[in-house]
Amino acid sequence: RLYNPTVGRFERAMANLESAEEAVAFGTGMAALTACLFAAQQRGGHVVAVRPLYGGSDHLLNSGLFKLDVSWATPDTLAETIRPDTALIILETPANPTLRLTDIEEVVRASQGIAVLVDSTFATPVLQRPIEHGATLVLHSATKFLGGHGDAMGGVVATNSDWATSLRQVRVATGALLHPMGAYMLHRGLQTLAMRVERAQSSARDLALRLMEHPAVERVFFPGIRSCDPKGLVGSQMSGPGSMLAFTLRGGFEAAAQVMATVKLFTPAVSLGSSDSLIQHPAGLTHLVVDEEVREEMGISASMLRLSIGLEAPEDLWR
Ligand SMILES: *Cc1c(COP(=O)(O)O)cnc(C)c1O
Repeated sequence: RLYNPTVGRFERAMANLESAEEAVAFGTGMAALTACLFAAQQRGGHVVAVRPLYGGSDHLLNSGLFKLDVSWATPDTLAETIRPDTALIILETPANPTLRLTDIEEVVRASQGIAVLVDSTFATPVLQRPIEHGATLVLHSATKFLGGHGDAMGGVVATNSDWATSLRQVRVATGALLHPMGAYMLHRGLQTLAMRVERAQSSARDLALRLMEHPAVERVFFPGIRSCDPKGLVGSQMSGPGSMLAFTLRGGFEAAAQVMATVKLFTPAVSLGSSDSLIQHPAGLTHLVVDEEVREEMGISASMLRLSIGLEAPEDLWR
C-alpha cells in the first residue's frame, strides 16, 4: 500500500516522459482525478474547470461529493472566474469528444499563479508535454494509450514534489492504488507507445481526409484539419494531431445509430487508445450523463460519432 517497486518504476518513467519531478499512479484515471480534487481541497475551496471535459470528469465535478465550489469557464472567461480561494484550474486538450484544442500557455498566463491541471490522455507524452508549457499537473487515464491494448486500467498524475506528496497521502487514505500487475503492463506499454501513436495518427489523418469528402458526412473534427486548429497548436503545443477523430452525419441521430450498427471492424465501445479501433456515439453513451443543453453548448450533436483509430490497416478500416 505504501510503496511498490513495480509501480515505482512506472511512475519514474512517466515523470521522465512528462518532464516532471514526480508521478503518482492510481487504479484508474478517475481515481487519479479524485485524488487531485482531494489535494485541491486541502489548498482552497474552489476549482475552475474548462469545458468540454471527459463525461466522467464532468460528472465527478458536478457530483457534490467534494467540499469544493466548481466554476465552469472557457479560456476567455477564466480570469474573471478565479477567486482568492481558487486552488486548481482543470482543462483537457485535446478535449473529449470534440477534439477542441486549448492553448495551455494562454491558460497558464491567465491563471494568476494557480496550479493548472491538464488531462493529456488523448495526446500522450509523445505528442504533448504540458509541464513544458507551464502546467503544474498532467493527468492520464493510463487505461487508454499508455497501456495501449485495452486490457489494463490505471491513472497517473505527473507533477511537482509538493502536489505529489499530497496525492500520495490521498492514495494511502483512500486505497486507490495501482495494482503491481497493472503497473507492469502499463510500463511494458510505454515501450511501444511512440510507434503506436505514430502509426495510429497516420491512419487517422488518412481517414479524416477521406471522411471530409464523403457525401453523408456533415463535418469532421480532427486537430490535423486547419479549421479545427485555428491557433496552429499542432506544430507548437502538440507535435501531431493524434489518432482520435469525430464526425457528424447529415442524417442526424438515426444515421449515426445506423453506422454504429453496420460497422464490422470497428468495435462499438467506450474507451480509446487501444490497438483495435473503436467507435462510439457520445450523445447515446459517454455524454448521456451531461445535460442535453450543455451537450449542445459543447458542440456534441446527436449525429456525432467518435473514432479511436487503432493499428489495423487504414484500407480495412475505410472499407
Ligand atoms: C477515460 C478517461 C478518463 C478516465 O479514466 P479511467 O481510467 O477510465 O478511469 C479521464 N479522462 C479522459 C480524457 C479519459 O479519456
